[in-house]
Amino acid sequence: MDYKEIAELLYPNVKLSVEEILKKYPKRNLKEGQIVTRFAPSPTGFMHIGNFFQAFISYNLAKNTDGILFLRIEDTDEKRKVRQAKAVIYEVLERFGLKFNEYQTLDGEDIGDYGPYVQSQRVDIYQAFAKKLVSEGKAFPCFCKKTEGKEDVLKLRENKFEEDDEKEYDACRDLSYEEVKQHILNGDSFAIRLKTKNTGKERIKFNDLIKGELEAKANAKDFVIVKSDGVPPYAFAHAIDDTLMGTTVAVRGEEYISSTPAHLELFEALGFTPINYCHNPLICKIDEKTGNRRKISKRYDPEANMMYYFEQGYPIESVLEYLLNMINSGFEIWRKNNPELPWQDFKFGINDITAVAPIFDLVKLNDISKNLIARISGEKLYSNWLTWAKEYDKVLATELEGNSEKYIKLCAMDRDGATKPRKDIYNYAMMKEYFSYIFNAPKEYELEENDAEKAKEFLTEYVKSFAMPSSNEEWFEQVKKLADKLGYATDNKAYKQNPDAYKGNVAKACEFIRVAITGRKNSPTLYTIMLILGEDEVKNRLNKLINY
Ligand code: GLU
Repeated sequence: MDYKEIAELLYPNVKLSVEEILKKYPKRNLKEGQIVTRFAPSPTGFMHIGNFFQAFISYNLAKNTDGILFLRIEDTDEKRKVRQAKAVIYEVLERFGLKFNEYQTLDGEDIGDYGPYVQSQRVDIYQAFAKKLVSEGKAFPCFCKKTEGKEDVLKLRENKFEEDDEKEYDACRDLSYEEVKQHILNGDSFAIRLKTKNTGKERIKFNDLIKGELEAKANAKDFVIVKSDGVPPYAFAHAIDDTLMGTTVAVRGEEYISSTPAHLELFEALGFTPINYCHNPLICKIDEKTGNRRKISKRYDPEANMMYYFEQGYPIESVLEYLLNMINSGFEIWRKNNPELPWQDFKFGINDITAVAPIFDLVKLNDISKNLIARISGEKLYSNWLTWAKEYDKVLATELEGNSEKYIKLCAMDRDGATKPRKDIYNYAMMKEYFSYIFNAPKEYELEENDAEKAKEFLTEYVKSFAMPSSNEEWFEQVKKLADKLGYATDNKAYKQNPDAYKGNVAKACEFIRVAITGRKNSPTLYTIMLILGEDEVKNRLNKLINY
């Protein structure tokens, strides 16, 4: 067959030779153990937590081996391209602090010697390799249908193949030079397909860095490696790029395991050494309705979108620490033993990555976040809250900024200097509601029904003599004194022995005041809240409940 001539017919303008390309991508000089890995997202306008999970694993593998991490934008699938979609990827990575050694800036400047790091700018490279495969008889042009129908044709064939388990038939597989020439003269568009060597009976074994040795049916499809728009799908593009760019470990989702045999066949056809794949398990969720485990989904789970964590105001460390937990359960113990160390000090290797699908649980994330937020100072909490509000709640931001002293005090409450700071806040979005009593007097009261009259009676006396106490202790002494006078027990033991002899105990009296001021039975230190609200507002609120 005139493979070389056919290749020339298809790609008369592709002058770049594979040898020249290979020269431009010299082997990287690596030290023992150094990992070169990458994050290769497709710009869809959305960063799924599963994708970010891979990015974070890759980031750590490179960091922990003093290796290299590069970012490659896989934008060859025009249909999935969304305006601004690239910017979303960069924003998420930057805000989470994942730094890359090599990448292309949003302005199109390549940082690193193995670029361009955006696939749509590498089409000439892919075509050179496609031309080579055709010239070696390892791939062939397929003129069956135009681009639009190509996938359907392929599907049909795949189904047929599944049915009778025979090698798929393709009319274009052995076109002669003359036939190809005629098509080209007619202006027919073509895709390039790999000419598989397999018959459908073979099985192959391959190693996965997480799952160990896997065995599967070898590829037996003449799958498309260059679409009729001249651009390759993922399989072909990644095989070339990961080879040229010197990837030593490719972390990708488990969903790619089934196409790995096809990818390995491509590596072989291209004369490349296969890269090491590390297929990470997909993050799951327990479905609230069915109680079954399912993949976390962009459609049903807001937390599948990485933007969610910014919108909700989770500290990035909370999210990263939770992901570390999912990557390796040993992180939890490490964190317990090293509460002060930054997460970056937790080192893990490929062997430590979980092979079992991690289950996403918001409650667990919130717990981690509560612990983390409990460790930051009031001032820092205030400034984080403000930063968040400036982006997501402008009205709140103005209020916070205009009254900084008050809100710093609020944020410092039960925190600065406390031996056991309250572990209650897990993100910045919840704080407005959590501190709602600071912004507005309560509209409803958490009072038990038969307490209402008692509360009104107690508060009527309390407000009469109310003056802002000068300490928490003084405040409590005042309450105790009044409670005693009004027939409440100040001795808890005596109260327990004979509750009927009293109107209640001091705790009850405190509860009335707390409910009047915050609407709630539980709150952080009431005395501090009173100080923040000021004497007049405290009195207003006491009166409001009295007249409720
Ligand atoms: N662009 C592919 C994806 O987003 C990358 C897979 C890989 O990492 O190789 O799924």
